[in-house]
Amino acid sequence: MNDFIAWSPSKNGIFSIRSAYETEWNFRFGALTQVSTGSSSPDDKWKLIWSLECPSKIRIFIWRVLHAAIPCRAVLASKHMKVKVQCPECKMGSDSICHFLFECQRSSEVWRQLELYEIVKRKCTKYRSGEEVVLELMHMDDSDINILGCPKLREMVPTAAWYLWFEHRKVYHGDETQTTSRIALAICGLSANFRITCAPTAKPRTGGWDKPPKGYVKLNVDAGFDQDLLQGSVGAIIRDQNGQFIAAANESIDICYDSHTAEALAVRFGLNLARTVGCSKIVVNSDNLKIVEALKDEFSSSAASAIIDDCFFMSSDFNHVIFEHCFRESNQVVHELSKLVNLSSPSCWMD
Ligand SMILES: [Zn+2]
Repeated sequence: MNDFIAWSPSKNGIFSIRSAYETEWNFRFGALTQVSTGSSSPDDKWKLIWSLECPSKIRIFIWRVLHAAIPCRAVLASKHMKVKVQCPECKMGSDSICHFLFECQRSSEVWRQLELYEIVKRKCTKYRSGEEVVLELMHMDDSDINILGCPKLREMVPTAAWYLWFEHRKVYHGDETQTTSRIALAICGLSANFRITCAPTAKPRTGGWDKPPKGYVKLNVDAGFDQDLLQGSVGAIIRDQNGQFIAAANESIDICYDSHTAEALAVRFGLNLARTVGCSKIVVNSDNLKIVEALKDEFSSSAASAIIDDCFFMSSDFNHVIFEHCFRESNQVVHELSKLVNLSSPSCWMD
């Protein structure tokens, strides 16, 4: 057979407008839709994405990145949409996935603050798409990660990518964006928090306000203490077994020598309030463990011992009193109440 001139993009070797158009399109935008997986198999790539310890929205975002399904301007242009491909942030490059993730001024600065700039720069060689770079960064093996001193790299990269897109979108809509240091901080916080909550040892946080047993009311007390002025404030709130408000009060302390004394004064203040209201069975909650233990033991060798004694004798006026330590989170309302006295005069509220 004699040699003849053939058009290689088409199967039969004959030139057609359609095949020429496809060739041109692949030349200009093909890299955006093709994802090189390097040495890993396609299955490994997806397994890696779905096993990432980060929120689902980030995993889905990475999946979209790897399918070049992010509506940045260069991708929209590749779908034949009439848009300016110029980056809306720096106005210097084409708004491609690679550009807004790694090359744009803001993203470079964020990667620098995350101490990953050098490695990102090494991976961002010419003719590489953003998808390839993301995948390569996530595929770095543990030894590389340890050398970099960044054990959370596998989650940090997708989280940073998602956050950069989150900020980049704000530019499209003309919204205010955050500073690069805030973005870097948010990325670190987001990836670290998610890992902690996913750890097998993670436990749901307890310490919310609990209802008292049937027939009891709950008295929450708290105190504030100013070491410089040797002054303080106390607050108390009483709620019934359904959590309904009964009474609350606050008061300032003119002179007080330490925080324990202030906390003991808060208990005495609360018991006084409970007596005024006419409570019979009460559960007293304070977030000061030392004071609660002293009240349970009916003994204290601290400067607050005289007040502890007062509390002990006052408790005999009630049918039954239970002293309990509580977490600060469950004492938040009365904490704010005790602080309020610094802004307004002492008050008492009754239902
Ligand atoms: Zn840019």
